[in-house]
Amino acid sequence: MAIQTVGIVGAGTMGNGIAQACAVSGIDVVMVDISEAAVQKGVATVAGSLDRLIKKEKITAADKDAALARIKTSTDYADLKGAQLVIEAATENFDLKVKILKQLDEMLPADTLVATNTSSISITKLGAVTQRADKFIGMHFFNPATAMKLIEVIRAAHTSDETFEIIKNLSVEIGKTPVEVA
Ligand code: NAD
Repeated sequence: MAIQTVGIVGAGTMGNGIAQACAVSGIDVVMVDISEAAVQKGVATVAGSLDRLIKKEKITAADKDAALARIKTSTDYADLKGAQLVIEAATENFDLKVKILKQLDEMLPADTLVATNTSSISITKLGAVTQRADKFIGMHFFNPATAMKLIEVIRAAHTSDETFEIIKNLSVEIGKTPVEVA
């Protein structure tokens, strides 16, 4: 399965950094947060970050425009339905993540992959609240996600080999170095 569109839940530090990393690599993004103010803050952070790259002559103004054009925003999870992968990057709180993952699980097509960027919560515990444990995985970016190369890829107990391979390949496609960790 090719990942053309990545959905991101949470437009904060990690969410907007992951959005930028995907968008500059040519991947479409739908970034969702709980308020319009939160998503707009996330987009403004990406724009500022891209401006700094222009100043350093690492990208052109046209690259910035193209990257920003790839990032759609929403406050409605239903807009994530077109993504092949949704990365949960909301506030680090177990109950909140369970609530988000259950909502995503009910709403997303059965073949959509779901990843979490959690730093400290068991991936197997989170995967267990979904009906797609084989399509659930940990994808742990580091801060700042725009610059840090490492992505820890963490299998839950029931993550399939196919899911693992897709996430590893996507990580390479966006210029990162995936490393499998327990
Ligand atoms: P943050 O506080 O900067 O952003 C979290 C965002 O989630 C906020 O914009 C908040 O409004 C949003 N949010 C809360 N509830 C939501 C909901 N129901 N639906 C959609 N959005 C919601 O946090 P962060 O630093 O970006 O961390 C996000 C995740 O990434 C956490 O799980 C954290 O452990 C992990 N992480 C953080 C770092 C880091 O250094 N900051 C590094 C690696 C992983």
